Amino acid sequence: MRKLIDDLENIKLAIFDLDGVIYRGETLIPSADKVIQDLKDLLIKVVYNSNNSTATRQMYVDRLKKFDILTEIDDFYTSASISASEITKIKKNANIFVIGEKGIRKELKLKGHKVIEDPPNYNDIDFVIVGLCRNLTYKDLAIAQKCILEGNAQFYATNTDPTLPASRGFLPGAGVMVKAIETCTARKPIKIFGKPSPLGINLILEDTTIPPKKVAIFGDRIETDILAGNRAGIKTIAVLTGVTTKVMINDIKNKVKNLVEFDENLIPDLVINSLDEIFKK
Ligand SMILES: [Mg+2]
Repeated sequence: MRKLIDDLENIKLAIFDLDGVIYRGETLIPSADKVIQDLKDLLIKVVYNSNNSTATRQMYVDRLKKFDILTEIDDFYTSASISASEITKIKKNANIFVIGEKGIRKELKLKGHKVIEDPPNYNDIDFVIVGLCRNLTYKDLAIAQKCILEGNAQFYATNTDPTLPASRGFLPGAGVMVKAIETCTARKPIKIFGKPSPLGINLILEDTTIPPKKVAIFGDRIETDILAGNRAGIKTIAVLTGVTTKVMINDIKNKVKNLVEFDENLIPDLVINSLDEIFKK
């Protein structure tokens, strides 16, 4: 059995971001499957926290199964499932207009909300929730705008990632859709549920009852994964298999402000080139 490096030796829960850490597009990142199995062998609980709201948690179970990583629905905390949990705390059985895909729609319905496609009366809509939508239309934008400006709908967002890592390069992320609604309503989302908000990690901490000191997040994006982790008070490990490079980490450490607005919480506790480095040689 492999041993964890000293920095991580008392970890009881590992939270993994997905895109850029476990896989990139349809491709498994080398050794991710083995690292997860080795953590489980050490009786460390493993959960997954993704900002991508397009897939249902079952779709993530199926996706990881293709890489021989066995999971259960409850192992996933996506910006879709986190949005659904948090919106339910604000209002039960709400009427919601969604700019987004299957994931966010399904998670909201599972919590008892009604997702309304073409509202006959904008006043009936409690919330507009905006996430990544790869079939966005002008009509969607117009309905969301009317629900917010002509009705009383409150505007929320799943996440505002600017880009989405693809098998090759990047695609536009949810932030593009959120900005579109901001632009045509002159409103900002009341809350953004995904990372860098610590809401999702806090839900994980509540559900597992493991103290923050014994929890680590592994993420490839400093301004979401690492910021959220530090805000939640858990250990943060930047993995350089996705969007972040060593140069970017050094720039942040040197407080170069033109990349991202500087915040102490952007600095990870640990930087590794690949997940394999969490084990002693
Ligand atoms: Mg990522």
